[in-house]
Amino acid sequence: MTISANNPALKSWVDVPTNSDFPIQNLPFGIFKTAHSSERVGVRIGDYVLDLCAVFELGLLANLGFERSDFEATVLNPMMKKGKLGVRALRNKISDLLEVSSTLLQENRSTVLFPIDAVHVCMPIQIGDYTDFYSSREHATNVGMMFRDPANALLPNWLWIPVGYHGRASSVILSDVNIHRPKGQIKPDPQADPIFAPCRNLDFELETAFITFEGKPLGDSISTEEAEDYIFGMVLFNDWSARDIQTWEYVPLGPFLAKNFASSISAWVVTLDALEPFKVESPKQDPAVLSYLEFEGKKSYDLKLEVAIAPENSTETVISKSNFKYMYWNMAQQLAHHTVNGCNVKCGDLMGSGTISGPTEDSYGSMLELAWKGTKPLKMADGSERKFIQDNDTVIMRGHCENEGVRIGFGEVKAKILPAK
Ligand code: MN
Repeated sequence: MTISANNPALKSWVDVPTNSDFPIQNLPFGIFKTAHSSERVGVRIGDYVLDLCAVFELGLLANLGFERSDFEATVLNPMMKKGKLGVRALRNKISDLLEVSSTLLQENRSTVLFPIDAVHVCMPIQIGDYTDFYSSREHATNVGMMFRDPANALLPNWLWIPVGYHGRASSVILSDVNIHRPKGQIKPDPQADPIFAPCRNLDFELETAFITFEGKPLGDSISTEEAEDYIFGMVLFNDWSARDIQTWEYVPLGPFLAKNFASSISAWVVTLDALEPFKVESPKQDPAVLSYLEFEGKKSYDLKLEVAIAPENSTETVISKSNFKYMYWNMAQQLAHHTVNGCNVKCGDLMGSGTISGPTEDSYGSMLELAWKGTKPLKMADGSERKFIQDNDTVIMRGHCENEGVRIGFGEVKAKILPAK
């Protein structure tokens, strides 16, 4: 089935501002409600949200295999149960209805289209399980240099395995939900016993995450060739990290309380279909990977990313510009590896990319690296400095792809750090 919704020549009868992340070629899915309605599936276009429940009521989504309850839903999971081809057909149909020459929806504009400022945007997915990878060679190298041996920064398994760990789904939160600085065991004096205190080295991790369709039964594996059929779409992902808690607790089983206090996602799930025109080669992998991790074709995306910090009552400062294309391990390899032992992936699982650091000092994906363990504080526009994230700082991440005059974006993921409770 062709992805007709990706045609760069398409224009919509909905007015989309220049440089919007959400032209008719994007059509990301999310959940919203209004003062007069319950939660429902929406599609973002420009500064509007299209109510799919209302579109369904008009009879305009007939013969696609969906039911009303797939759209009058608190999460996208019921809709996602229709799988890759079902959602692709739906997105193509929505594109047809929003296309400039189509009048079917236009005549009902006031009942199906809501200004984004007039709706409440909700958590889009019921996340079953959450996994976070560690797939940027630059990030893994930087961390290895800082905490282990600069001469052997990468651990021996890193070039063979898309390293990951199982995170916690309950504390994955929507953009604009503010969080309190976590507390825990830290060891400010390495020679003394640990103390219990608010985290002093609070960090972000610039990541994306992919969300899966229903996978295969327990015991079966998803190959790199099949992987994209099992991926619904992507969001921006901030894997908040308490570095001082992490340093003390992570041996030998990896991150625990340093990570599970909160992880923020952007609200609009950009489909893998919409990202198809922006595919690029992944970095060359050497040594050659084991056969189940081999893949053909372009599996990465030219997705520009940036991070900004906005101190309280002050303008923001962009502190990093990175790109998803730097990732050493791609999503197909991550999913193939995740399932190679027979682990079953479910509809609505979330898989973090790992911190996306680029090759230059201004493209690193965490404060740990940008300020190099606190030794190179970052200057903010208001004259203040940052080694890590301070109370009342807002951290904002943005991302978009762009070519042939089409910009497919993610909006932003943002949250403010409130003082410890
Ligand atoms: Mn992470």
